[in-house]
Amino acid sequence: MSGSSIWHPFTQHGLEEPAPLVTHAEGAALYTKDGQRVIDAISSWWVTTHGHCHPRIMAAIRRQAEHLDQVIFAGWTHEAAEEVARGLRAILPSELTRVFFSDSGSTSVEVALKMALGYWANRGEERHRIVVMDHSYHGDTIGTMSVGARGVFNAAYAPLLFDVGRVPFPSAPQVTLDALEVECKAGAAAFIVEPLVLGAGGMMMYGPLVLAEMRAICETYGTLFIADEVMTGWGRTGTLLACEQAGVVPDLLCLSKGLTGGAVPLAVTMASEPIWDAHYSTDRARMFFHSSSYTANSIACAAAAENLAIWREEPVMERIGALAARQEQHLTELADHPAVADTRRCGTIAAMELGGEGAAYLSNLGPRLLAHFREAGVLLRPLGNTVYVMPPYCIGEDDLAIVHAAIGSAADAIAAGEFN
Ligand SMILES: *Cc1c(COP(=O)(O)O)cnc(C)c1O
Repeated sequence: MSGSSIWHPFTQHGLEEPAPLVTHAEGAALYTKDGQRVIDAISSWWVTTHGHCHPRIMAAIRRQAEHLDQVIFAGWTHEAAEEVARGLRAILPSELTRVFFSDSGSTSVEVALKMALGYWANRGEERHRIVVMDHSYHGDTIGTMSVGARGVFNAAYAPLLFDVGRVPFPSAPQVTLDALEVECKAGAAAFIVEPLVLGAGGMMMYGPLVLAEMRAICETYGTLFIADEVMTGWGRTGTLLACEQAGVVPDLLCLSKGLTGGAVPLAVTMASEPIWDAHYSTDRARMFFHSSSYTANSIACAAAAENLAIWREEPVMERIGALAARQEQHLTELADHPAVADTRRCGTIAAMELGGEGAAYLSNLGPRLLAHFREAGVLLRPLGNTVYVMPPYCIGEDDLAIVHAAIGSAADAIAAGEFN
């Protein structure tokens, strides 16, 4: 190590090379101190939507920083936050009437869970159980780990995690729907789900029909439906929200990552009117007890307001459509490779398994792949054997071709036994 004392997230420092130092970024490219240009094929962990350092968002941040940095948000407000709230209301389903700010995807999920339980508590009904889908990911706090998949990454904290109901991933949709119905019938308080794509679970994809049916079951039994669109929101799946493709409007919606275009941290939990109503009162004991110091930070809100303006004024959906089509072409080319299996796509997200069928023995594959991609000047970070490409929408055709060529050459090396 170069003497850095930084403890990096999701990093085993005993195994990994020192972290490359990034000096600046533009569009779909990162530039390192040692002069490398790296194509950011994972949008810096799914946050960057339009591209790095989008001039309009950078300018909005600069403007806001000139006159208001941060102000307490309990009992106070500011124009940037009001603008974001108006912008979200205008672009999202009209049933989602209330906007609660926080500062990360995990927090937006915690807020949604607390709002769901607060709703039932304030109505005087005994409904506490949360239902989740197998393989889902909702964050790394104790609460969000509780509603996510269990495994090596949270085994040490298992004693603190609360019990939830679980339904299987809908590879056999009816099994999932039946399991969900059992939970809802038994009085589940809420069901939380990643619509259409389970991100950290391995870019597992399912169709809008199941999503719509899950929503309908929840509605039948009054179970609140929480859509965690922290990753799937802001166009990733080909529509602004993944829920749109199923004609579904959730009771609670979690947004973060692309909310500021990926420039600065901010999150919102959108709530429907009944959830607001359950907390609205002259009784202080019924208020929503949640805040964080930087709730609705004004600089972050200025970035989000500009992101919303970009969505209104620039041809974002066209860029998304074009990227999705190009991703499909590249996937088709890779699909027949003997070391590539299960190619799949949802909107702009392309994913596949490397190593071919039954390649679980390739336990060293991850680090080999990382090194291979880094050498090729491509930032890809496979989830186990799952390689996925989720670039900023501005990525050029040439850069996208380089990304898929790097995956192709990795597949060649695997097929030739070079990564064993
Ligand atoms: C990334 C992610 C989160 C957590 O967001 P953070 O900002 O990292 O806390 C929650 N849910 C989903 C679906 C995510 O992809």
